[in-house]
Amino acid sequence: MVNVLLASPKNPRSFWTFDETLMIAGKKSGFPPAGLLTVAGMLPERYNLKLVDENVEELKDEHFRWADVVLTSSMIIHWKSLERIISRANQFEKPVLAGGPLSTQYHHEIRGNATYFLGEAEAGSIDVILEDIVKRGYRPETRVIDKRKRFENMTKVPLQRFDLIKDNLKYYIAMAIQTTRGCPESCTFCNIPSLYGKITRVKEASNVVKELQLLHNYGWRGGVMIVDDNLVGNQKEIIPILHEIKDWQKENKYPFNFITQASLRMYENPELMEAMYQAGFSSVFFGLESPSQESLKFMGAQKNLQGKNERGKTSMLEKIRDIQANYFQAYAGFILGFDTDPDNIAKLMKAFIQDARISVAMVGPLGVLPDTPDYERYKREKRLVEGVRYGGDSGIFSRELSYVPMKNGERIDPNVVLDRHREVVGYINSPGAYFERTLEYIKNRNRKPLKKMVIGNEKLMSFLRSVYYQGVKSDYKGEYWNFLWNVVKNDISSFPEAVGYAAQGHHLITTTNESLKVDDVNTSLEKMLGRMGELSGDAMMTSLEKMLGRIGELSGDAVMRSKLYLEDIIKKYKNIREDFRNQVKSSYRKLIENSPSY
Ligand code: SF4
Repeated sequence: MVNVLLASPKNPRSFWTFDETLMIAGKKSGFPPAGLLTVAGMLPERYNLKLVDENVEELKDEHFRWADVVLTSSMIIHWKSLERIISRANQFEKPVLAGGPLSTQYHHEIRGNATYFLGEAEAGSIDVILEDIVKRGYRPETRVIDKRKRFENMTKVPLQRFDLIKDNLKYYIAMAIQTTRGCPESCTFCNIPSLYGKITRVKEASNVVKELQLLHNYGWRGGVMIVDDNLVGNQKEIIPILHEIKDWQKENKYPFNFITQASLRMYENPELMEAMYQAGFSSVFFGLESPSQESLKFMGAQKNLQGKNERGKTSMLEKIRDIQANYFQAYAGFILGFDTDPDNIAKLMKAFIQDARISVAMVGPLGVLPDTPDYERYKREKRLVEGVRYGGDSGIFSRELSYVPMKNGERIDPNVVLDRHREVVGYINSPGAYFERTLEYIKNRNRKPLKKMVIGNEKLMSFLRSVYYQGVKSDYKGEYWNFLWNVVKNDISSFPEAVGYAAQGHHLITTTNESLKVDDVNTSLEKMLGRMGELSGDAMMTSLEKMLGRIGELSGDAVMRSKLYLEDIIKKYKNIREDFRNQVKSSYRKLIENSPSY
């Protein structure tokens, strides 16, 4: 038997990872690695499989020793942890097969010896490739197997091997399944149409139901994330699948509630929305992108500009309100930094998110990714910034852009965009704004999700943790209790859900708060280094030396000012929660940590 170690890389802390919510919920990760579990389903019995998800358990040396080959799959946010996995496998002289979007797009920049598989796993005979890799053994080289743009029918996608994680299900917030791949839209910043095709391919309904049944058999109850990039890319074919899911849910007394991502096009089709509602969907993530019509046009997001239904709502705000009132809770993503953004884009975005009552709104500056129309556009215009890589939003508050922003044909300072980003996120994730719009959403619902939340021991413990961290320890306890009290006054049956929304808020509020402090320290450090640059060469060196080793002995006006400035930075640095401090640039951190007053 060949031992295959399926290693799933660790997620870096970000707005998306909901670390603080996981802590309240008593969980370790959002979802299991659906990609690796699917690839595992392609491997015949002669392979002995072990899956280690670094988000829920430690990847130990003994795992590498045991393995004949390491198989891994990663997204762009996993860059560092993928390199760590490869480096460890290399040390143990175990061959690595690395796939997923990160390897597909950036294989030439990833450090370490591995075979990189580009494209969808179904396009290559993974078992044959693996056999060949094992036969060749470890070699200090990189190889590439390129199967990009081969979009196989989804009937070829095997069932996920949930048995490999059956003992760890309890560590996840939700399970993950996929029903479609590809997207027919043409958003210029997005790589999905290029990576997975412009024609939405749909899984067989029977296979979708089989995966649900498997999860049910392993005892899973609760959330299931449908990880499609756009569930409604093929509306005609998805509706029958939704009906099958509905029947299965009914038969099994609604064990699952579904969450997914979809374009606002769904609003054109009330039959589709009703089928989703009846199947047990509770939340949908929409790429709303921008409140500016000009910017939506600029980025090709026609999905948000077109379409209406018999309810007659045409504006993005009205559609979202209608969907929230009658079908599902809306999460949404927004992007800043387009050439067409009006000067008051931050103000417009804050107002839109608040008016649309979107609790969880993810806002980021534009990131220019390879394999997108934007990449070609910015490259053509010589506006790509060399050496700056889009990190898939894991940087929390970026300090640099991967492209040169422009306004009215003139290049503008990237800080204009970065400051707008901080302004919007700082506002929407302030406790007052977060709880206000979440309460408005709850108050304005005509229908609630079909699956009722059952209060078991786990939920009760989450509530107690929420009370402790949010209602007792936090510095926003007033807003927290006010929110819960208003929910009780309005409709007590929404209380369990409200506790969940509050826990999500805890992550957004805390992450924003700490990240703004990190950002403040980084800004101060950059300014300080800027000021040092104004000193003569000798004075600068002396000043640096003294700051590093002998702060107490400094003298002279310029140096004294630097000393006070540094002391202030150190004070701010110490005020950042420890687990966020690694976001202060590492060289600066060394400077601070070596100083005597730290
Ligand atoms: S709708 Fe979503 S998945 Fe499709 S191209 Fe636009 S951003 Fe990408």
